Amino acid sequence: AYFDHSATTPVDERVIEAMLPYFKQTYGNPSSVHHWGQEAEAALTEARELVAMLLDCEPASVTFTSGASESNNLALTGLALKRLRTGANELICTPVEHPSVLNAMRWLEIEHGFNLKLLPVDKYGQIDPSDLQHALSERTALVSVIYANNEVGSIHPIPDLAALCHQAGVPFHTDATQATNYLPLSIPELQVDLLSLGAHKFYGPKGIGLLYVRPGLKLEPLLHGGSQEHGLRPGTENLALIIGLAEALKIAFSEREVEAARLGPMRDQIIRLVEHEVPRSRLTGHPIQRLPHHASFAFQDIESNALLAALDVQGFACSAGSACKVGDPEPSRVLSAMGLDRSWSLGSLRVSLGRGTTESQINRFCDVLPSIVERIRIVSGKLNST
Ligand code: PLP
Repeated sequence: AYFDHSATTPVDERVIEAMLPYFKQTYGNPSSVHHWGQEAEAALTEARELVAMLLDCEPASVTFTSGASESNNLALTGLALKRLRTGANELICTPVEHPSVLNAMRWLEIEHGFNLKLLPVDKYGQIDPSDLQHALSERTALVSVIYANNEVGSIHPIPDLAALCHQAGVPFHTDATQATNYLPLSIPELQVDLLSLGAHKFYGPKGIGLLYVRPGLKLEPLLHGGSQEHGLRPGTENLALIIGLAEALKIAFSEREVEAARLGPMRDQIIRLVEHEVPRSRLTGHPIQRLPHHASFAFQDIESNALLAALDVQGFACSAGSACKVGDPEPSRVLSAMGLDRSWSLGSLRVSLGRGTTESQINRFCDVLPSIVERIRIVSGKLNST
């Protein structure tokens, strides 16, 4: 059973079908004058219009990138460097951002002299909007707050946070990568100025994402070259992957409610099991304001890698919290920011369900998890620790 949909999802068959003609027939360069080029350009325009229709924004505000990491870097670096020229030299984000946000912010701090303010998070990994309000100043260049957290699934109230930023005249970015499948994504409702997505989290191909940029907001490009993507992201457009992203987004939007309603109870079954049957365990992230496919836990005196290996042997692919942490012996930065000490934060487990998940998989998982945790504690001599 594949329970790691927050790391990546399989590409939907319908998405593969939609992409194939753009490898085989319509392979022209959208910048070429001949009819192969014109056909490719028409398909590119159509895909951009479809995405814009789904997000309820202007097609010109959609820039295709290589994925959410690039979108985050482009949004933050691109805007911060422009805003620095106006004297705005402060950045605000949270300690529970994805590394592609946090490390871009840190780079801006080290290389360009920005002052980075990290807002505190509570035990659920959520910020208090009044902390954001107090941190904002006339020197704030931008704010970035993750929509739904990849490790613990907690959701932030993006429209409220964006409204606070706008009252202070500060642009607001959100990394919506984990939210795309399950949460509202209308730009007018979210009120964001910048928003990042990556297609492989919503059953699209890897290597393609997008950045929404509010019309009128000027960014410095990361790369320099041709005038593709409104001059913001040079290089010949990867048309097949762009078509795949648009198709995957359309399907995700049309199936969102049904999938959320199907997966929510299965997620709750796992949460209930852990709460009742696994000693010295706790749910990480918010119990209610969380993604419907996402259950995450910390087990005291358990090593995540031992747990993941034992689950793998039983046929379950889960993760410790984030795919980017593979091989990293340090406790999760996100869990530490939420106040968990080392004896807990080294034992994290993320179970992220998806379109292929069935009730019988969940039942089997619930049958084996408590005994696996117990066995690992016995083997490591930690069964009776407190
Ligand atoms: N942002 C979040 C919240 C993520 O979960 C991920 C992927 O794990 C990314 C950004 C990076 O996405 P990509 O692999 O498309 O660069």
